Amino acid sequence: MSALRDQLEYLEGSSPFYAERLRGLREHVRTAADLPRLPFTTKEELREGQRREPPLGPHLCAPSERLVRIHVTSGTTGEPVAVGFTQRDHEANSALGGEAFRIAGLRSDDIIAHCLNYALYAGGIADHMALEASGATVVPVGTGQSRRLLELIPRLRITAIFGTLSFPAYLAGRAREAGIEPRELGLRHIVTAGEPGAGLAAVRQEIEEGWGATVADTFGMSDMWSTMGGACGEGEGLHLTGGGHAVLEVVDPDTGDSVELEDGATGELVWTHLRREASPLLRYRSGDLAHVWTSPCACGRAEPRIRIDGRRDDMLRVQAVNVYPQAIGAVLAADSRLGRHCVVADGDPIVPPLSVYVEAPARIDMGGLEGRLRAGLGARFVVTRLEPGSLPVAEHKTRIVHRTARGDVLPQAVETVRRETAT
Ligand SMILES: [Zn+2]
Repeated sequence: MSALRDQLEYLEGSSPFYAERLRGLREHVRTAADLPRLPFTTKEELREGQRREPPLGPHLCAPSERLVRIHVTSGTTGEPVAVGFTQRDHEANSALGGEAFRIAGLRSDDIIAHCLNYALYAGGIADHMALEASGATVVPVGTGQSRRLLELIPRLRITAIFGTLSFPAYLAGRAREAGIEPRELGLRHIVTAGEPGAGLAAVRQEIEEGWGATVADTFGMSDMWSTMGGACGEGEGLHLTGGGHAVLEVVDPDTGDSVELEDGATGELVWTHLRREASPLLRYRSGDLAHVWTSPCACGRAEPRIRIDGRRDDMLRVQAVNVYPQAIGAVLAADSRLGRHCVVADGDPIVPPLSVYVEAPARIDMGGLEGRLRAGLGARFVVTRLEPGSLPVAEHKTRIVHRTARGDVLPQAVETVRRETAT
């Protein structure tokens, strides 16, 4: 893979940070299979470098006069990291993203409302331009415009929405408050981003039914490419579009050992940029835990597919057992009668059992659910039923895990149930 060799040569020649890591090793890397000979890059190293050498740190590889834009990562897991784009980086980002949005079902006759936050992070303006590159017509809506959006959908003949999975559920609620049935607004398609678990069957089904529209998920990272994968709707997972611009590795999240990239592989995703000029990453540990499929998809595409199952940082350590909140979601998703859920962990360190609050119709056997969670995840759980529709739907990311010992505020319905059971 000469693009990889070219990229490594470029890194070594352009940045003291990478020159130091690659010295004496670069010539041993001929193909992606040789990448494990090189050290990882972590977000903490990028932060630390940017503190020392603001704004972009010693891994910046392009001269600052060639930069056209700086994004910062969303900072949901700590201090944000700045990411520079040259014109070529920007064009590649739009092309990869445009392809991902087409895979996720956008058409050139779609008029799509972009409903993510436009400020700072790449999900805003970078994804906007990727949506344009898909061929669709984009309406820059941003956040906090729900009422106006409900008027604009029919007036502008908007056919699609791009937002988090929480957003269409939230918007449906606002529509009904205004006396409008969501499906009468005539959306045909909803493209989601930025929320692992967007595959959750029950939530997705509720949105599809409420809006009379299809839902397809996309994947991206501000510090890699803003959107670099899309769900085709025919096979499992999201097709990656970064082929010529990124190398994917999978590693064991605990040991960092390589996991063979084959159908059904699971682990932490590690990314290396190809053809990236300004802020390239080398063996970057994403913290994303995922499933990978390498077999050809029913849709005919051959690119690998991924499904993000959770974040390494969201892991709950319950005595000796590591529990990933998304794994809880996956067990619940197997029962389509269940709605939204949240997880409450008490104590620091966490004292079992973990409390799961799940929306469900009356007469569902919660004991069976507790057994399935314990069998699947190896920790003790107490499951409490909530009335359907009682958990809040945030306009953007809806929080799943609450740590009481860290002062997290619980949803009202959960607070009420806990008070009732405590007395
Ligand atoms: Zn496919």
